[in-house]
Amino acid sequence: MFTKSQALFEKAGKSIPGGVNSPVRAFRSVGGTPVFMQHAKGAYMYDVDGNRYVDYINSWGPMILGHAYEPVVKAIQEHATFSTSFGAPTELEVTVAELIVSMVPNIDMVRMVNSGTEACMSALRLARGFTGRNKVIKFEGNYHGHADSFLVSAGSGVATLGIQSVPGVTAAVAEDTLSVPYNNLPAVEQLVAENPDQIAAIIVEPVAGNMGCILPQPGFLEGLRAICDKNGILFIMDEVMTGFRLARGGAQELFNIKADIVTFGKIIGGGMPVGAFAGRREIMEHIAPAGKVYQAGTLSGNPIAMIAGYTLLKTLNDHPNIYTQLEEKTNALVSGLREALGAAGVVHQVNHIGSMMSVHFAEYPIVDFTSASGANNELFRRFFHAMLERGVYLPPSAFESWFISHALGQEDIDFTIDAAKAAMQAIK
Ligand code: PLP
Repeated sequence: MFTKSQALFEKAGKSIPGGVNSPVRAFRSVGGTPVFMQHAKGAYMYDVDGNRYVDYINSWGPMILGHAYEPVVKAIQEHATFSTSFGAPTELEVTVAELIVSMVPNIDMVRMVNSGTEACMSALRLARGFTGRNKVIKFEGNYHGHADSFLVSAGSGVATLGIQSVPGVTAAVAEDTLSVPYNNLPAVEQLVAENPDQIAAIIVEPVAGNMGCILPQPGFLEGLRAICDKNGILFIMDEVMTGFRLARGGAQELFNIKADIVTFGKIIGGGMPVGAFAGRREIMEHIAPAGKVYQAGTLSGNPIAMIAGYTLLKTLNDHPNIYTQLEEKTNALVSGLREALGAAGVVHQVNHIGSMMSVHFAEYPIVDFTSASGANNELFRRFFHAMLERGVYLPPSAFESWFISHALGQEDIDFTIDAAKAAMQAIK
């Protein structure tokens, strides 16, 4: 079933570290051979062996309208004939910035970068430059990309591989990153009290998607906002995952919470490598060349990336009912899965919000990294493979969120629920 993938993975290991260009793709925590993909359309991906999968990774978020969404593909094709990169300003960049500012609450300006990592790294530098302070508070199991400052108690691949402290991150950098459990306001208050006038920013995933999908408990985000206001700290909401996914205006809109700086990635590039950070004018004007906080990029604002992102964002902007439909699809899948897992007699927690969800095999609520780590990850491993064999592509780690795309039809949801029933029979 995976013959060509197996041969390719073996070959890849000779010229690419671990055989992959991003760690979680290597299936390390679930074991087995990563599936090498060949093409994708709508809700499906097809591998090099000709197997079809209903896709719940969706490129880790960007493909909110499904794979190879035709207007995006067409726009890329057309713009590629103009230039693949100018390295000079374009009208398109202005159009994209205006669209983003119009969709997202509480921002006046946006700077485009090439990845979510760059967005978060630059947002932190900006917060430090703006406040004149060095330290940052982040949450255990939250992931903000692979810049040094964020690789302390990080989620996603860092959690999947069980890396406690990342070699190469200096002690000096790590010391400036203070980490506390998600959903734990008293721990944040204590850290702030212990480090008076030293905290530049609190950065948070408003819905944590890098330790499975974990929702903020009522009052958590509001509490963080209040702590920031009281102590002159900037509140950075990392909306790399949640931006344009939970709502047109992201988590800020959904939870009605104001951030000082917001970071974006994934959907904002329509499947091309793009990130962005945004905020109020008086903060953003500290960025070079308006201000002295330096940040730059050879390919930033790349025309192909901009047109792909613009086309996707414009569709989301013009059709807000997409969000209602995404939620309906997710709810249908969640209730079907709960039923299937319940009927199989397996303890489980299905967390979900909007079009993000995850399954943990545990009998207690999953609210932070400790509870996520205590779930039955061996059962998840077997479930993952049983689903893969049945044509359902789930994230290869319980420390990741599932993403639902608008291309997912009722027949795909039924297919997935049937696969889950059969998978449970097979692995019990
Ligand atoms: N922030 C969050 C919340 C993410 O989920 C990710 C990636 O998954 C990042 C930042 C880093 O983005 P990128 O992988 O584009 O560098």
